Amino acid sequence: LSKAKIIRVNHSDMEDLRAKAKEAVESGQYNKVMYITDGVFSMDGDVAKLPEIVEIAEEFGLITYVDDAHGSGVMGKGAGTVKHFGLQDKIDFQMGTLSKAIGVIGGYVAGTQSLIDWLKVQSRPFLFSTSLAPGDTKAITESVKKLMASTELHDKLWDNGNYLKAGLKDLGFNIGNSETPITPVIIGDEKETQAFSSRLKDEGIYVKSIVFPTVPKGTGRVRNMPTAAHTKEMLDQALAAYEKVGKELGTIK
Ligand SMILES: *Cc1c(COP(=O)(O)O)cnc(C)c1O
Repeated sequence: LSKAKIIRVNHSDMEDLRAKAKEAVESGQYNKVMYITDGVFSMDGDVAKLPEIVEIAEEFGLITYVDDAHGSGVMGKGAGTVKHFGLQDKIDFQMGTLSKAIGVIGGYVAGTQSLIDWLKVQSRPFLFSTSLAPGDTKAITESVKKLMASTELHDKLWDNGNYLKAGLKDLGFNIGNSETPITPVIIGDEKETQAFSSRLKDEGIYVKSIVFPTVPKGTGRVRNMPTAAHTKEMLDQALAAYEKVGKELGTIK
């Protein structure tokens, strides 16, 4: 919408970020340069290197923007990835969705008062769309209150994530570089990945396959999202299905 020029940076590659930031700033072509990153990356479950990003942003005067759709409710005891690193005063924009951990619909942007005032009069999607319904708003408020009152759900989510990850690893699956409850099982070939997902569904386990072009070619995966509502028995059932299907399709020995 801003018609800004987009310069891509290699995934979590801080040397590349530094080089591209330097080049952009020194070119003198741009009034402002902003670095936009996810807090938690949705396909691998890895976490942005925010401390290094802030350092580079300060060095080159970049505006920083963190999309924490997968971090809010999950990182920083529920407050998100920026809080996890204690960088609330350093990140200019924190954006998140209310549709994932919060479990409703909508989204938010957090930043300084002047930034928020500016967005309220300048953001076209905000100005020209209907506000949230009262029921949704109440559900969101209650979700946030719950998260602020106790870390119980947060802790259960991480316990469940760690349990599932350990189980899948023990079975011999490749779960990539996940640092969060998002647990990919990387199968590789696109067709095999789809077959794997469909066999798991027959066994009562719903995990969607994600293949090219959502992820790079040859890194097809099924993405597991354990929640705070899962019991250990459910996770054991999932692991048993993984073992059965994995052996049947030759993904594990
Ligand atoms: C899901 C997601 C969004 C959008 O959230 P919606 O609630 O679907 O609008 C934005 N950014 C990232 C990284 C997401 O994963």
